[in-house]
Amino acid sequence: MSQQRITALDERLWQLVLPSSPLETLSTGHLWTEGPAYFPTGDFLIWSDIPRGRMYQWIADLGVRVLDHAANNCNGHTIDPAGRLLACEHLTRSVVRFELDGRRTVIADAFEGRHLNSPNDVIVASDGGVWFTDPTYGIMTDYEGKRSPSEQDGCFVYRVDPATGQVEAKIRSMLKPNGLALSLDERTLYVADSSASHDAAGHRHVVAFPLGDGWQVGEGKVLITVEEGVPDGFRLDEYGNLWVSTARGVEIFAPDGCPLGIIHVPETVANLCFGGPKNNRLFITASTSVYAVYTAVRGAERPAR
Ligand code: MG
Repeated sequence: MSQQRITALDERLWQLVLPSSPLETLSTGHLWTEGPAYFPTGDFLIWSDIPRGRMYQWIADLGVRVLDHAANNCNGHTIDPAGRLLACEHLTRSVVRFELDGRRTVIADAFEGRHLNSPNDVIVASDGGVWFTDPTYGIMTDYEGKRSPSEQDGCFVYRVDPATGQVEAKIRSMLKPNGLALSLDERTLYVADSSASHDAAGHRHVVAFPLGDGWQVGEGKVLITVEEGVPDGFRLDEYGNLWVSTARGVEIFAPDGCPLGIIHVPETVANLCFGGPKNNRLFITASTSVYAVYTAVRGAERPAR
């Protein structure tokens, strides 16, 4: 547990953060933590340690346990409107859903008859459509999955139709699409491109894509460029501000991309989510550890379109 270290870049930051709340370490000793998801029923958090291929669970007032010893090098998680967990699995190169009775359903494992690369992060829109990113991080080496050649023509952002199950490539213009989120009105899709991680000429930015009727994706506009590391997973708060994972910690941006400030974290942050009984606690997966801090705002509520 340590004092929060905050850099304010805009006065509006002080309505969002809670400097008196310490940065708590919930778990450490991991290899690479990712994919936090908070379950209000049960007041617990799950996350993945990708290289170890395990899923962990932190339960308030109890502690941490391994929830799944064979989690297929899973990466990003989300919870859909019905309360079911979705996971991006590097090892199986698929997006899967765990039904409420425990059954595992494959949502997407191929596009145009060929394997996906290695799904990285996933969200579910209010209509049940599943959107996910598919960079190659999980097939580049055996460390985070299984080293394999890409079978796709690029790294795309996909949508799975909730009625037909059809997998459609919605965005083909990004190099390494990574974290993603919808605006509160679901009229904008934000996607991080983290390609600078392995390519000096790559990107380290978040692009905003307008969404039209029928989930048509318009032309993207770079909204945020980070200065250190690359943007990875991110979430929105109740006002639509973006809380973005970077090498500095958690960087907070207004909906128009204006930088508001930074919550510094001792390790590179890969992903985060809001949670807690009041939805005012930020859970942060950062390299070898999982941290938590209370905020002055709540995480975004379920969107209405
Ligand atoms: Mg990611």
